[in-house]
Amino acid sequence: MNRSIINLYQSLPYPLRSAAASTWGYYLRWLRYSGETETLAAEALERDHWSASQWRNWTEERLAYTLHRAATRVPFYRSYWSERRARGDRSSWERLENWPLLNKESVRQSPEAFVADDCNIRRMHVWFTSGSTGTPLRLYWSRRNIRRWYALFEARSRRWYGVSRHDRWAIVGGQRVAAIEQKESPVWVWNRGLNQLYVSAIHLSPALAHASIDAIRAHNLKYIVGYPSALQVLAQYAQQSGVTLPMSVAITNAEPLFDSQRDIISSAFCCPVRDTYGSAEVVAGAGECECGSMHLWPDTGIVEVFNRNHDPAPQGLPGELVCTGLVNDDMPLIRYCTRDSASLPDPRERCGCGRNLPLLGKVEGRLDDVLVARDGRRITRIDGIFKGQLPVREVQVIQEAIDRIRVVYAAEARLSPQCQRDLTKRFVDVFGETSLQFDWVPQISRLPNGKFRSATCLVPPEDWPPKKVSSHV
Ligand SMILES: [Zn+2]
Repeated sequence: MNRSIINLYQSLPYPLRSAAASTWGYYLRWLRYSGETETLAAEALERDHWSASQWRNWTEERLAYTLHRAATRVPFYRSYWSERRARGDRSSWERLENWPLLNKESVRQSPEAFVADDCNIRRMHVWFTSGSTGTPLRLYWSRRNIRRWYALFEARSRRWYGVSRHDRWAIVGGQRVAAIEQKESPVWVWNRGLNQLYVSAIHLSPALAHASIDAIRAHNLKYIVGYPSALQVLAQYAQQSGVTLPMSVAITNAEPLFDSQRDIISSAFCCPVRDTYGSAEVVAGAGECECGSMHLWPDTGIVEVFNRNHDPAPQGLPGELVCTGLVNDDMPLIRYCTRDSASLPDPRERCGCGRNLPLLGKVEGRLDDVLVARDGRRITRIDGIFKGQLPVREVQVIQEAIDRIRVVYAAEARLSPQCQRDLTKRFVDVFGETSLQFDWVPQISRLPNGKFRSATCLVPPEDWPPKKVSSHV
């Protein structure tokens, strides 16, 4: 939304803010849903139980249509293929493996070049991705495709968990429902149009978080959605105050979910935690079922895994998720590099829930957040180092040099010297001989989109030691 409109909104007294958010919510409801939504959602739920051959036929047909449309109607791909043809390359564009990998930067530079030429761009809806760094991406969507996507989302992100968009719910996210510098409650807003309490994930100081907890309790909500880091903070404060926030389900997204976070969120909200995976570009989707498996949504996108050399990774090994979106055929993104790391288990593996959807291995996190040990091992997860009863709310690890790590932590009090020594030993066990610095802060700041970055590597890739096997701690 336009910056001046956001400033105007933020200057309003709360009742007018809620009225403005609700008006926006009614517009979004019209944009996202129609009389067709229920039918489309029911069809998606039926597809959950399709056989492998039904899925193969469906995705092959949809992929063939998407590739054909991209190669013949989308300026970026049309010129790509005509260059190849001019070089005498006769490879078929009907085969996905013949397509190049696409990185975010190419889309960022000229998003309009990815829009099919039979679309009227001025009549399309623009989505801005809430990128953690750099300029956001502009994505063009028709209303028809928006509604197809939200029907899929309704089916797999809500109906799977026994809730619907008609229930009252809360989302904890990065939208500017209050000014960043705001120190007083409310840092949330009730959006009547979407039956939604929007709680700011950026305002999580103790006083504001407690006020948001009171709002969640007062609004009589059925489920809550949010980043694991934000739900964790609310859950911790709720537990400290001796209150619970009973929900039917807590649905996490956008960040890796650690076991310790799952435990505390589940306990404070008295419900199961279901993790989901997706991307703002809508090139893939996945959600956790009641058996704890992460199922891919094959009708959202085709997922491949690539290693660092941009070759397909062997079955079961982790690598970068490279996805071909099947929903937004007006702006097709083929083999789009997500920068997320995960693996694909054997496609024949079945889950006890009875759904016939392929599985996605644990999403390890962003490739941009990988740390590096002195012997060259890539460290993709560090939550294991902090296992145990540490008196901290949140931790952020910043690798400033190959042998220097800064640990920023939010806690009631400074860590004791003994605790710091124990943690140093654990870090040295993982990273090799490394100096540690511990910085105590009242609250760890969020990225502009409200997400929490648990690991940051400031060592330039050219200074990394040669790679060994990656390690998860
Ligand atoms: Zn399952």
